[in-house]
Amino acid sequence: MGYCNDRSTGALCCDKCGASEGVRKRTCTATVLTDNTGGPRTRLRYCIPPALCAACLHELGGNAALHKDCKDRAAQCQAEYDDIERQLDAGESFAAAAWGSWHANVPDGQVGVLYRSRTARRYVLMSADDYDSSPRPVLSAVATTPWCGPDANEPPF
Ligand SMILES: [Zn+2]
Ligand SMILES: [Zn+2]
Repeated sequence: MGYCNDRSTGALCCDKCGASEGVRKRTCTATVLTDNTGGPRTRLRYCIPPALCAACLHELGGNAALHKDCKDRAAQCQAEYDDIERQLDAGESFAAAAWGSWHANVPDGQVGVLYRSRTARRYVLMSADDYDSSPRPVLSAVATTPWCGPDANEPPF
């Protein structure tokens, strides 16, 4: 992260004025609870806390003012995470890992993808164009064929 420390004392420096006295990471007041696609749901502070000295924090209007836009952005972000959780609850699967046609088991123009639902893993092939759409397609929304996976010796789930 972009923090800077005083060369001689090692103290954290203010992002704004460079002073190293009374500088703290000004923790975000907004949090989000992540979705389950990358591991257990985790509550995170919305932004990386800026390091500020007391004077600069005061000048910026205090911690609440500093993070005032974070609340709305965090709410938007939370709505997206919650929507993914709802889809997982409904049995949907999300892309967790992918292998391009550089891989011996993946035909040209295709992508091998590992999809995960709440309870299952499945390897599939799809066209590279479908995979490249943003956001990545959920399993029910894309045409796929079963795939043996990156290791041909590993049976598909
Ligand atoms: Zn400062
Ligand atoms: Zn914030």
